[in-house]
Amino acid sequence: MYGYQRIDTPVFEDAGVYLRTTGDSTDVVRKEMYIFEDRGGEKLALRPEGTAGVCRAYLEHGMSNLVQPVRLFYIAPVFRYDRPQAGRYRQHHQFGVEALGDADPALDAEVIDLLHTFYRRLGLDDFRLQLNSIGDVMCRPAYLERLRAYYADKLDLLDRDCRERLENNPLRLLDCKNAGCQPIIDAAPVLVDHLCEPCRDHFATVRRCLERLGVSHDLNPRLVRGLDYYTRTVFEFQPLVEGSQSALGGGGRYDGLIELLGGKPTPGVGFGTGIERIILNLKRTEVAVPGGASPELFVAHMGDGTIEAALDILMRARGEGISALMATGGRSLKAQMRQADSSGARYVALIGERELESGEVTLRDLTTRSQESLPVADAISRLTAS
Ligand code: AMP
Repeated sequence: MYGYQRIDTPVFEDAGVYLRTTGDSTDVVRKEMYIFEDRGGEKLALRPEGTAGVCRAYLEHGMSNLVQPVRLFYIAPVFRYDRPQAGRYRQHHQFGVEALGDADPALDAEVIDLLHTFYRRLGLDDFRLQLNSIGDVMCRPAYLERLRAYYADKLDLLDRDCRERLENNPLRLLDCKNAGCQPIIDAAPVLVDHLCEPCRDHFATVRRCLERLGVSHDLNPRLVRGLDYYTRTVFEFQPLVEGSQSALGGGGRYDGLIELLGGKPTPGVGFGTGIERIILNLKRTEVAVPGGASPELFVAHMGDGTIEAALDILMRARGEGISALMATGGRSLKAQMRQADSSGARYVALIGERELESGEVTLRDLTTRSQESLPVADAISRLTAS
């Protein structure tokens, strides 16, 4: 619907890909990344997030020579060494998109709208979109100075993590969840009031495009993201459940990231959303989570020489595009019917010695519990028609 192409990058990369791009001070690098040495002494990292690997591939495969922007998506396992708890796992899966090579604010709105539409189509609607702009290299440094100055006489009130953030990554002070820090955060200067003109215009257009696309949002001037590389637009979809601090998904613009990987300055914008987190929220809001696809036909067989006839039916059914499976283990007819029920198949084709003699098959509809004997060809036509 949105014209994005799938990309699959390796589960592990040279650790430098993530170390260089996420910065020294973010939590992901500091405590959550799985880093190990391979047999040759190379330092490798299990993917802690999706964006840096996609940008590495964009550079390595010369995608900057394609017509820009390049629109990519991935569905991939992500690893974080965190204390496992509900909705927070050491291995989870993310669906993400990246639009690379274009700074147009309409693209920011496009990726946000894509994620919004994705959630809505899954049946999720009890969330709010939070949006902010965290500026760029032109306006952020001056703001950070202002923020540092504001915090300078409040050191005693801060916890240890926040004192460290003040040193390394002051923007993340605004992200602290510690109750004691909240009054200080509430009174802190906000970056949206100190954006340079190009960042202000960019943000205004993102918001205008979102409005036009019918994507409502809350401006959250305290929203920053866990990773250092974000510039300008940042966003998160937050479930509307009391006390939840677990975003459904989020992302933003990262115009300096590809340069950190050794490429020419190249803008980019994208998001990542956790698939397990989505499933948790679907269950919480009692939206039916679709199960795996069931076969249409289950072939049961009983008696000497029936296995060949059963295999023939299986082959003919699959040849017609009907998904079919067969009883195993030489079980009793009752046990085979139990297998059929648990497979979720709609029909059972039964071959016994009587069917073998008559050249017919007994076709049982497990929904209506009715059955009839008919030639195999007619049974297959019945299934293709249903
Ligand atoms: P982040 O890169 O931290 O913003 O993560 C993007 C999305 O991935 C989050 O909004 C969650 O949906 C999901 N996510 C992040 N960390 C975990 C985790 N440890 N377990 C499960 N899902 C996660």
